[in-house]
Amino acid sequence: MNADDQRRYERHLALAQIGPEGQARLQAARVTLVGCGGLGSAQAELLVRAGVGAVRLIDRDVVELSNLHRQILFDEEDARRARPKVEAAADRLTRINGACRIDARHTRADPETLPALVAGSDIVLDATDNAATRLAIDAACRAARIPWIFGGVTATSGLVVPRPLGSPCLRCLFGEPPAPRDEAQAIRTKGTLASAVLVVAALQATAAMKFLVGSALAHELIALDVWDMSQRRIALSNEPRTGCACVAR
Ligand SMILES: [Zn+2]
Repeated sequence: MNADDQRRYERHLALAQIGPEGQARLQAARVTLVGCGGLGSAQAELLVRAGVGAVRLIDRDVVELSNLHRQILFDEEDARRARPKVEAAADRLTRINGACRIDARHTRADPETLPALVAGSDIVLDATDNAATRLAIDAACRAARIPWIFGGVTATSGLVVPRPLGSPCLRCLFGEPPAPRDEAQAIRTKGTLASAVLVVAALQATAAMKFLVGSALAHELIALDVWDMSQRRIALSNEPRTGCACVAR
């Protein structure tokens, strides 16, 4: 580690949970973020500032005015120019930490594309807003034996579910997903508090960092509500649900 890194990461180096060895592991790590909206912006900024060596961003949208209340990497100029989110994010993240390799992929994330997009990652973070993409992340990560971390926000509440290797599939946990149209409608009508997005993203980024420096991921569900200032953890079973398609394999 050079002198600049010693200065840049001095608060990490002093931290019992990270230290010089943990920092070296972060700098050697490769993390993929599926989605570059509210969750992805905050995850990316935390991970890049933390010194994670390589971050891949996947998103096919452009920045819009309605994104700015919660998507912390973007500004009015990005919205005026309708810049692809991954491009605007990559510019900003490179200014924050030029040593981090940002791999911006302006593409959709679905069952066809995800296997190649998650390949080579140490861990994958969910920054999407729909069940169909999460099921595709689950399938791609299970097939490639890559752990991933579910994160979701509704109004003022949030869910974080680390997905360690060997845990049952996402359908085992949550059953069949809602219809995509109902899901999108619910997001619009219920709204989103930006601080709920930031807390969920921070928990996902922290879980990822713990994993990257050598801790096992816990199979648990963290449910929070920022307006109530409440958070609880529920341990999850490692038993697949009877009758789930994943058991047959
Ligand atoms: Zn299953």
